[in-house]
Amino acid sequence: MAVEAEAAARELRATYATGKTKSFEWRSSQLKAIQKIVSLHSDEIVEALRSDLQKPEFESVVHEISGVSASCKLALKELNRWMKPQKVKTSLITFPSSAKIVSEPFGVVLVISAWNFPLLLSLDPVVGAIAAGNAVVLKPSESSPATSSLLAKLVGKYMDASAVRVVEGAVAETAALLEQKWDKILYTGGGKVGRIVLSAAAKHLTPVILELGGKCPVVVDSAVNLKVAARRIIAGKWCANSGQTCISPDYIITTKDFAPQLVNALSAQLDKFFGKEPLRSKELSSIVNIHHFNRLVKLLDDDEVSRKIVRGGERDQSNLKIAPTIISGVSTDSLLMDEEIFGPILPIITVDQIEECVGVINAKEKPLAAYLFTNDKKLEDKFVRNISAGAMIINDTVIHFFEAGLPFGGVGGSGMGAYHGKFSFDAFSHKKALLKRSFAVDISARYPPYTPGKRRFL
Ligand code: NAD
Repeated sequence: MAVEAEAAARELRATYATGKTKSFEWRSSQLKAIQKIVSLHSDEIVEALRSDLQKPEFESVVHEISGVSASCKLALKELNRWMKPQKVKTSLITFPSSAKIVSEPFGVVLVISAWNFPLLLSLDPVVGAIAAGNAVVLKPSESSPATSSLLAKLVGKYMDASAVRVVEGAVAETAALLEQKWDKILYTGGGKVGRIVLSAAAKHLTPVILELGGKCPVVVDSAVNLKVAARRIIAGKWCANSGQTCISPDYIITTKDFAPQLVNALSAQLDKFFGKEPLRSKELSSIVNIHHFNRLVKLLDDDEVSRKIVRGGERDQSNLKIAPTIISGVSTDSLLMDEEIFGPILPIITVDQIEECVGVINAKEKPLAAYLFTNDKKLEDKFVRNISAGAMIINDTVIHFFEAGLPFGGVGGSGMGAYHGKFSFDAFSHKKALLKRSFAVDISARYPPYTPGKRRFL
């Protein structure tokens, strides 16, 4: 393990030292190779995702394959512009001079990805790393083994093996990789391992992007189009990997008065989307493994929780499926509010006044995303001003992920740093300050002897 990790780091560093990865031609050839991987092998990718997560083909194509393809397309279109040094105005202090910000690659970078969107969360950061001119080692998740081994095969086949590698493996292999010196690490996963990554990186002073999770709240005011709100909450919760998504709605906050209407609206739309027997629906992803299945079932079978189930609760261990489940009247100190749920269970917390949502959300770690459904501009302003989160959407859930003009990343407990679109290029580029002076003017006031007159002059 340690040998493979050490060899990967050493070989890629040797390639990087040749300067090969810095050229526009190399970067665009590798981005095109990623495009080939997702376009020529989409059927195999869909099959791998079905094997790992029973992910419906639609979700695999729309969320994962198209997501990677769109990132490549944008990077290829903009690469020339992104790579150009950015001119900066200079001041009298450096007169006469010109200044630029030069984006240079960090060098050899490590991407560690998670199992829930195993293609997208692996290749999307790699797109940014390559666009910025780095050599990359990708470590996909062992919890999505079919996609991981397909990635290893396809990256090996289409990409430049001297500068882009997939290293498969679990904890021991990741630990061995983390012992090596990297020039930047992007880690996607839970906060516990995020802390391990950060401390390993500290040893080498390696900068780190942590794409973590957390409890993403959805506040639902009564001033809404209820049917549309219900559909959009369901889309983010149950139509995206059965709630196993970092930006899935984790819990709802609404008023006591409005909760029954909201539950009815969610139930009516769930019937339409997944039918009366959701466990048999092909549109519902399974839980990734028995460990996570048992974790979720334990939550459901808690005495206080099970009494409050107003929809769902059924499970099928043989298929690792859990029906879309709504639990109403949950207290803020419930077991369900302790940790990120990361599954198809949606608790509803009720308050007297909707404005109380601010206190409930701020009592927890800063979320990766916070959602508000309302037509009330004052409530919207209060929400945006008083709540800190990686991202916010007013009147929808999760779709900000696909808006390339927006940075994607957390804050506080939900992570640090961001990527997507141009932010991915920037995330993997060092911004080097370059100042060029002319020999023409050389003011003697800056040189000794430092007479009082000179001080006044400067
Ligand atoms: P995971 O089990 O796939 O782990 C993530 C990575 O960490 C894997 O590559 C794994 O091999 C590695 N790893 C696990 N244990 C390790 C250890 N002890 N030492 C070193 N490396 C180790 O994924 P997970 O943590 O179950 O992912 C779920 C979490 O990730 C959730 O909290 C979710 O919200 C978050 N997430 C965040 C994003 C985002 O973009 N912010 C996306 C997806 C998931």
